[in-house]
Amino acid sequence: MSVPVLEISRGVLQSNIAAVRVQVAPSELMLVMKDDAYGHGLEWTVDGAPDVTWFGSYDIASALRIRARRDDARVYAWATSTDAEVAAAIEAHIDLGVGTLPYLRRVIAQAELLGAVARVHLKIDTGLHRNGVRPEDWTAFVAVARDAEQRGVLVVVGVWSHLAEASDAEDDEAAEEFRTAVQALRDAGGAPEVLHLTASAASWWRPELRGTLNRIGAFCYGIRSADGPQIPGVAPVAELRAQVLALRDGVAEIGVGSFDGLPSTLAGAVIGTPAGAGVLRSVDAMTSTVDAWPGASVGDRVTLFGRGSQGEQDATALAERIGTVGEEILLRLTPRVQRVDVD
Ligand SMILES: *Cc1c(COP(=O)(O)O)cnc(C)c1O
Repeated sequence: MSVPVLEISRGVLQSNIAAVRVQVAPSELMLVMKDDAYGHGLEWTVDGAPDVTWFGSYDIASALRIRARRDDARVYAWATSTDAEVAAAIEAHIDLGVGTLPYLRRVIAQAELLGAVARVHLKIDTGLHRNGVRPEDWTAFVAVARDAEQRGVLVVVGVWSHLAEASDAEDDEAAEEFRTAVQALRDAGGAPEVLHLTASAASWWRPELRGTLNRIGAFCYGIRSADGPQIPGVAPVAELRAQVLALRDGVAEIGVGSFDGLPSTLAGAVIGTPAGAGVLRSVDAMTSTVDAWPGASVGDRVTLFGRGSQGEQDATALAERIGTVGEEILLRLTPRVQRVDVD
């Protein structure tokens, strides 16, 4: 039986990255790689982005996988991690995001044990309350970091935060808090090389909020924001396709189903067929059905989501139907879905 295929295009990845870079210049891109590069495959993405200089990984294990393929790149991991992981990261010259005083103390302790230098980006909580040091605790936090920096066991490479992206006004306030925190670090003698607080949407549309670096995942993979516009020059990297297995009673049975990670609530969505846009009638366990089109035959290929060449929508459009975000559609796909590299 034919398995569904996720076609991932290296050419599209590269043109998206180029478009993002032009948009955020002179500020730089950090390509975010969490969740196995948003389901595209971490190694595939690193290899497909040879001119990217900064990679952002949530966890240290993934950061080490990036380092294994790119000795020269800057690699950043921001998840609070175990001492053993921190030690491995320091040895592999991975920059660490640090958003609590206890974690900062653990990172310093690991650097001291190794007789090495830890490279950190300090996180100010600008309102999202998802990790990060509150403004009232910032001065004491910075003092501990600066002390370790002066002892030669730590380098404060950057300051960072994460925006809520709920409203422009809230993001403006967060950016003001961010600037105050950077100034406090400078007043304490720190000289951060990079400043970063924006992800895809704010990096693209709010130039005044960009720091020197932008942590961008979604737009590089061509995933637009839910309820957001198309991004000029950016297209989906991944397309999900399946084959027609049988025809009966006016429907085509296709080889992809909920066991492959396709949400059954997607019944009714528009997908692509050789004759253009068609309707996904039902999503069953191993198969689904589509309204048959004129001339449909077994072995034809349909596109569940992609760039629109068969009349299909993008993954975000499917996500919008069921109240989630585009990357969720990709991340749900199971290992039975075969990844196929295309140009
Ligand atoms: C996921 C994530 C990003 C990237 O967000 P996109 O909207 O996919 O660009 C940036 N920063 C942090 C902390 C994240 O968790």
